[in-house]
Amino acid sequence: MRNKEMLLIPGPTPVVDEIYDALAAETWGHTDPRFVEIYRRGLDMTRKLLNTDGEVFVVAGSGTLAMEMAIVNTVAPGEKLLVVSQGYFGDRFAPLAKAFGIHVETLQAEWGKRVDPQAVAAKLAEGGFKAVTVTHVDTSTGVMADVDALMPIVKRAGALFILDGVCATAGIEEDMGRDYGAPGQRIDVVLTGSQKAIGVPPGLAIVAFSPAALAAREALERVPAYYADIKNWLPVMRDPSKYFATPAINMVYAYTKALELIFAEGLPTRYARHAAYGKAIRAALAVYGMRALAAEGDAAPTLTCVLYPEGVNDADFRKRLAGKGMVVAGALAALAGKAFRIGHMGNTTPEMLARAVALIGETLRELGAPVDVERALATFRETYAAGIR
Ligand code: PMP
Repeated sequence: MRNKEMLLIPGPTPVVDEIYDALAAETWGHTDPRFVEIYRRGLDMTRKLLNTDGEVFVVAGSGTLAMEMAIVNTVAPGEKLLVVSQGYFGDRFAPLAKAFGIHVETLQAEWGKRVDPQAVAAKLAEGGFKAVTVTHVDTSTGVMADVDALMPIVKRAGALFILDGVCATAGIEEDMGRDYGAPGQRIDVVLTGSQKAIGVPPGLAIVAFSPAALAAREALERVPAYYADIKNWLPVMRDPSKYFATPAINMVYAYTKALELIFAEGLPTRYARHAAYGKAIRAALAVYGMRALAAEGDAAPTLTCVLYPEGVNDADFRKRLAGKGMVVAGALAALAGKAFRIGHMGNTTPEMLARAVALIGETLRELGAPVDVERALATFRETYAAGIR
């Protein structure tokens, strides 16, 4: 590995050498058949990853652009959007949609908890909601949404289901070909970025539209966007030799390589690995008296928001870890200073996470907490092994 540090923030995640090599390859022209072939393979694998019979869009941008593409192409100014929010990134859909004149209502869970599906049903019963946004994993809280519970409720209300997979896609199953509750009740839009469980540096916005979501775009005629208008991109996504705006050539090399690695690992194995990471990290940190913000049943496979035990100073703790070559993130908003966030997704390895457990233990010891590093490591290994069996 070329990386000198362990980047265990909730994205970007560690980039492996094969992906760096792809990034550093010679830049071909965007209509060069060799590039076109790589782009086409990347798009095909994106369809396979999300199991969609709709269309996928892979364009230069970050996750926020993907959010914007999902919204402007499905909900018109003046229409109603329901935001189901489990934290900071769920909330982001509200100002985003309002910027386009969309009427937004937000159901916000207490940080660390899920939104009650019954509250979603009650709100939707008021009628008139065109779409509902759900953040699969909110990166601020480490809470994973209950897609199984929410999907039938949203579909029964006749609304489009938009899933923000920025901190989930390729680490947690997102199957757009699956029926939830009744035949044909399917996820309409999945959006994500390249830099998290996919394992590529930041720079690509990835969005998938189901046939129903594409029909919604068609019915809108004009949308208040140009670069984010999927109709401008459709010809390119169907035939990547076509031009609309210059693709991020080297990012596409890296992305296609990342998807090859994902399919070489196999989706079920990859999802099981992530689930086991989440359980093992939380169990190991519990040995140090550190508790996750989310209850285990709501906690994400991809990252954990960890509450500090009494007396641990956030800045000091993270600075000491950084000095040992390991980077974690602080917490957001009201949790700032009270918790840190550790990413455990993408091409992060079990060895890296075991090392992370050891370094966190060493740091707590330096700060005067008499922790048992060996027991935490054993807990990590046992829980991980049990999780992938
Ligand atoms: N949604 C979620 C769940 C996220 O975690 C993030 C970024 N952390 C975003 C959206 C926004 O993505 P970006 O920062 O790539 O624009």
